[in-house]
Amino acid sequence: MTEIKSLTLEELKSALKDMGEKPFRAGQIFKWLHEGVQSFEEMSNISKELRAKLAEHFLLTVPEVACKQVSQVDGTVKYLWKMRDGDCVESVLMHYEHGNTACVSTQVGCRMGCKFCASGLGGLKRHLSAGEILDEVLFMQRDSGEKINNIVLMGTGEPLDNYDNVLKFLNLVTRPEGICIGQRHISLSTSGIADKIEKLAGEKLQITLSVSLHAPDDETRSSIMPVNDAYPVERLMRACNYYFDTTGRRISYEYMMARDKTDQPWQAEKLAKLLRGRPSHVNLIPLNEVAESPLQPSTKESVRRFQQALEKRGVTATVRRKLGPDIDAACGQLRRRELNQTP
Ligand code: SAH
Ligand code: SF4
Repeated sequence: MTEIKSLTLEELKSALKDMGEKPFRAGQIFKWLHEGVQSFEEMSNISKELRAKLAEHFLLTVPEVACKQVSQVDGTVKYLWKMRDGDCVESVLMHYEHGNTACVSTQVGCRMGCKFCASGLGGLKRHLSAGEILDEVLFMQRDSGEKINNIVLMGTGEPLDNYDNVLKFLNLVTRPEGICIGQRHISLSTSGIADKIEKLAGEKLQITLSVSLHAPDDETRSSIMPVNDAYPVERLMRACNYYFDTTGRRISYEYMMARDKTDQPWQAEKLAKLLRGRPSHVNLIPLNEVAESPLQPSTKESVRRFQQALEKRGVTATVRRKLGPDIDAACGQLRRRELNQTP
């Protein structure tokens, strides 16, 4: 059965037309769906007959809250959703000065195999559909009663490995008839699949592209991110420059500070050289320790020195504040814990 929330408004219109219904109903139904209704019965301005027909034709996905943690420190909320097939994915709701930000997953697991990441440990189970990614946003909004203003695709999964569904999700979530989040309020984070970055550039979206660089040299990067063997640093930077030239959007680089691995002064220098001449922004992320990985976080002092070395060379860099320090807020950690408990 077709998942109704994975349909664009146009697709829903034509599906209704095929069912012999008036296409204008699509707008009303779309609106209800994007309010996070839990059954077709809630659609009070739709006739009983049409509601029954919709239930016959379409699947309405409603994820269950399998686990929820609220940080006592900053109010960050982490959700673990149980999907209809029993698979679990996680999302995080963060409160910033510039609004509420939802961090969503795009896949169940991930096949990129980064050595420091809890999400990649079990490999990829499956892609999420556009509707399932949308559900994370809708039901976080419904559960918390808070309006979500920004979205970051930084949960479990590599968004560009699930390209078509992620693009459809972007279409759904930005529609004025739905929850209408502006493209400029959305960030997509990638481990660096260069040809997909170039493809994305062609979509001419106004979203922010965030590239998980983590090391400026091939030797270090390949040792922690297998994707670097397929798309080494120089190839990746070529794609990033193309993205900037095509869209005019400044790229954000994620750079994880791992002790004695990525935090050396020569790496700051090399990173500054790589980024020279292109508007960019570096986010220095303190490494979150993952039990299965030997990598350790850098000291505060070396993070500060690294940041200064970048700034001195004209690269703007901020140190990412750690949200939800008392909950498993890091990417993949909650799902990992849940999986480990499953016999
Ligand atoms: N797959 C995409 C998006 C999801 S991961 C990507 O890799 O970009 C979101 C971010 O969390 C990435 O920058 C990723 O490198 C980072 N990350 C993963 N595990 C981490 C850890 N243990 N400590 C700090 N950052 C981590
Ligand atoms: Fe996948 Fe991103 Fe984790 Fe790498 S960091 S394994 S790409 S989710």
